[in-house]
Amino acid sequence: MGTEHASESLSVEDDPSEIWREYQGARTGTEVECEGWRQEAALRMLNNNLDPEVAEKPEELVVYGGTGRAARSWDDYEAIVKELRELPDDETLLVQSGRAVGRFQTHERAPRVLIANSNLVGKWDNWEHFHELEAEGKIMYGQMTAGSWAYIGTQGILQGTYETLAELGRQEFDGTLSGKIVVTAGLGGMGGAQPLAVTMNDGVCIAAEVDEKRIDRRIETGYCMEKTADLDEALDRAKEAAEAGERYSVGVHMNAADFLEGLAERGFVPDVVTDQTSAHDELEGYYPSGYTVEEADELREEDPETYREESLETMERHVDGILALQEQGAIAFEYGNNIRGQVKQAFDREDAFDFPGFVPAYIRPMFCRGKGPFRWAALSGNPEDIHRTDEAIRELFPEKEGLLRWIDLAQERIEFQGLPSRVCWLGFDTDEDGLTERARFALRINEFVAEGQIEAPVVVTRDHLDAGSVASPNRETEAMKDGTDAVADWPILNALVNCAAGADIVSVHDGGGVGIGNSLHTNNHVVLDGSEQAAETARRVFTTDPGMGVIRHADAGYEEALDAADESGVAIPTRDRQ
Ligand code: NAD
Repeated sequence: MGTEHASESLSVEDDPSEIWREYQGARTGTEVECEGWRQEAALRMLNNNLDPEVAEKPEELVVYGGTGRAARSWDDYEAIVKELRELPDDETLLVQSGRAVGRFQTHERAPRVLIANSNLVGKWDNWEHFHELEAEGKIMYGQMTAGSWAYIGTQGILQGTYETLAELGRQEFDGTLSGKIVVTAGLGGMGGAQPLAVTMNDGVCIAAEVDEKRIDRRIETGYCMEKTADLDEALDRAKEAAEAGERYSVGVHMNAADFLEGLAERGFVPDVVTDQTSAHDELEGYYPSGYTVEEADELREEDPETYREESLETMERHVDGILALQEQGAIAFEYGNNIRGQVKQAFDREDAFDFPGFVPAYIRPMFCRGKGPFRWAALSGNPEDIHRTDEAIRELFPEKEGLLRWIDLAQERIEFQGLPSRVCWLGFDTDEDGLTERARFALRINEFVAEGQIEAPVVVTRDHLDAGSVASPNRETEAMKDGTDAVADWPILNALVNCAAGADIVSVHDGGGVGIGNSLHTNNHVVLDGSEQAAETARRVFTTDPGMGVIRHADAGYEEALDAADESGVAIPTRDRQ
């Protein structure tokens, strides 16, 4: 069954759709407007991604991460909504770069929606060709969870940032950031989690941000404490707080490159330096120095070439600033925005990679055990449903102290944006029944839905940054032990096996986090509606999905992954034959 193509005349520049205005986020409650909960979950998650409380620029369909969009144009958004409302229980909707392109009869246990975003063939897989196609309305940048309808606001990244900084605290300090000053930049959709993640680890954060509205937003939602445009004032307050061992965060309204040079002029060396500006995209993500946001936006429109050049020049100064602080003793790491790759490519600067990425530094040991960020949203819209899931985590994993601390802090400090949701890191480790951590959790939640302890179904999904779902040589697969950083068979296998396992939505994207041509990654959703079918799907998907992390890292020769495979009885044919 085909879907009509949306007209080329409508684009993201057009006025937002009336249907979107009517929704203003996901519909909540126990009544469905689709044929079933699996389709309803897809519709609610799409609208949740575009909730004005959740998305960074919903009126442009931009969810987060530079230009990461949920649909290609407003016309396409409307077409997707219509398709989801009508989709029967035995058909599968195909979405290509934010456009509903077809619908086929499949079967009830097949995914309801399959998504491919931003993918290009190797030789053409670059921003230049992408932008040409984008200008003609033929492709869309899906980022990671933007185009796969799994974004849940800043909380999504919060726990990952919290975990990374906690690991940094364990490796470099006395297990805490108390008394330490972390310097960073970028308070956007993801980067906005940094100040709160630092204070949750008891430290002090100074974050530069060019767009004052973004700082305001982080303050309004409790992610950042104060703002100033005066660097001296920010430094004084930060030092005072650090000396007193107090938690403190401040957004400094200035360009990151100027900010780091300002620190150097003042002879200030922080304990840690990193960055989460949208450096992966020099045209539409990163801001060149010397302009206000409005002036820079104008320059981009009028003279994109000059914008690009100046943006890259600022990025080089920004990287130089990080390198200088590292040289003087600060712990430096890249936080997954490809700023090192950009500077290396534009200026042939090998030394841009003199500071490590955060994955090899702090995350890979967890990936080896299939552990990664796993998230769920209460489709009822009722925060109590999420609190019930928090209790399930406490009941199921009483021995995981870090996880329980996270759940307590999350309950205390996180304001829900859009559908109430929660994120935590669980992995593959199996129990005596062969159930993985993620499967145990999902099955318990499915029971709660069946028993009415939770009001409506819960959708479980995850970041594309996960143990076995991504190939990204400057980020998740940087410096793999066997040199397979750029091998993209793994994410493809991840998507295929999760389709085979019957996930409800499966997606494959190019370029998330680090920009077009630099990564391939996948995602999936499972809708826990209390049925036996949902339980079977959960058991399968939450084995195959984290299991991919174990076999990918075992194949690369990581001992932790080989041990995890042995302990959990994962079949690795080549190893099993030895
Ligand atoms: P975003 O586009 O929502 O926000 C980026 C912010 O940076 C904006 O607020 C922008 O005003 C600011 N900015 C841009 N250039 C600046 C400059 N020169 N100086 C100061 N501020 C500047 O993006 P986001 O979702 O917050 O993601 C930020 C980056 O981090 C992206 O590159 C993303 O891919 C990467 N990222 C990494 C991870 C990870 O795995 N650790 C997770 C999420 C995002």
